[in-house]
Amino acid sequence: MVEVYSKALKKSVSVDRVLFEIEGKKKGATIVFFAGVHGNEPAGIFALESVLGQLKKSYVKGNIYAISGNLKALKEGKRYINEDLNRLWSEAQIKRTLQTHSIVSEHQEQKEIFNLLNSIIAKNKGPFYFIDLHTTSSKTLPFITINDAIINRKFSEQFPVPIVLGIEEYLHGPLLSYINTLGYVSLGFESGQHDNKSAIGNCIAFINLVLKNTNVVPHLDSKKHFKTLQIATQYLSDFFEIAYLHRIENNDNFDILPAFKSFETIKKGELIAKHNNKEIVARYRGRIFMPLYQKSGNEGFFLIKKIPRFFLKLSMCLRTIKADRIFVFMPGISWHNKEKGILKVNLKIAKYYAKSIFHLLGYRSKETDQTYLFVTNRERVSKTKNYVKEPWF
Ligand SMILES: [Zn+2]
Repeated sequence: MVEVYSKALKKSVSVDRVLFEIEGKKKGATIVFFAGVHGNEPAGIFALESVLGQLKKSYVKGNIYAISGNLKALKEGKRYINEDLNRLWSEAQIKRTLQTHSIVSEHQEQKEIFNLLNSIIAKNKGPFYFIDLHTTSSKTLPFITINDAIINRKFSEQFPVPIVLGIEEYLHGPLLSYINTLGYVSLGFESGQHDNKSAIGNCIAFINLVLKNTNVVPHLDSKKHFKTLQIATQYLSDFFEIAYLHRIENNDNFDILPAFKSFETIKKGELIAKHNNKEIVARYRGRIFMPLYQKSGNEGFFLIKKIPRFFLKLSMCLRTIKADRIFVFMPGISWHNKEKGILKVNLKIAKYYAKSIFHLLGYRSKETDQTYLFVTNRERVSKTKNYVKEPWF
């Protein structure tokens, strides 16, 4: 047990790895919530306590699990102790964590979460929903982040909040990307600023909507929760794409101008930050996203752009007919691993292909070696069939 303190509520709660495990009397989907993967983001823990702590088991159709993330960091109120637990979920790192004995505290946490995940997946039939609850250092509208798979898009659309695609290209090893490689619906929800009371309120509304939209608590009256999020997001519920990330290194001097709010519109050429005493201006017009107002973290800020509806529809159609098969007939492109949906693109030729072509067909660039750029498709591994009977599909 560790004690987690909420500055917003000025109270503590004692938690274990498993916050809740609720088995319904009737069959249904399995939801797995994560909270506190970052230790300075306790809002999700308190929101889960509030919603699931009061939930009557007889209302539940399916199973609900709630898992706490970085326990040691939660206790200390820090993002992490040695390493960011939300950057450790690459295939290679998981292997290292499981095979070696490490003194890094997060490797121990990762091992426990990994084993717990496996046991939940083995024990239940699905369909599975994985929801990771976070908050941000800046002020923000609540929003969803997803890896760009059709099942994620369709499920996210049920919530009245903006949805940001493509973060997987910029972050290495977030937990949800790993779960996506297993083919399940998984989405991240950022409910507000770390220690703001409304971050807990928005998170409570979101958890209720998850219970409703998955039909795990079918009789829940979700109208007021829907309204809460509509108001908090100022009725913004479009899809956005990451257009740019300003990266920073651990010992860099990074001073972002005060009071940017995530989703705020930025003009081309607008001064955003000073990075190692150099002025950083916006390269183009867009919206600033997740500006960094805390010491730890390597993402200074993102710029995002709205994705036109037409583009979203087109990409749905092209993916349904598996139009990506034509890629391997194009110069410099071949399968690296067809089953996992990974193409390799010769680097000498990659620059002639527009990134948006890959995005359209569901491919996101992941890694490069000396000769190739590897792009990964989420559709080929998605367990879409498991979800076709779900009410939202
Ligand atoms: Zn976080």
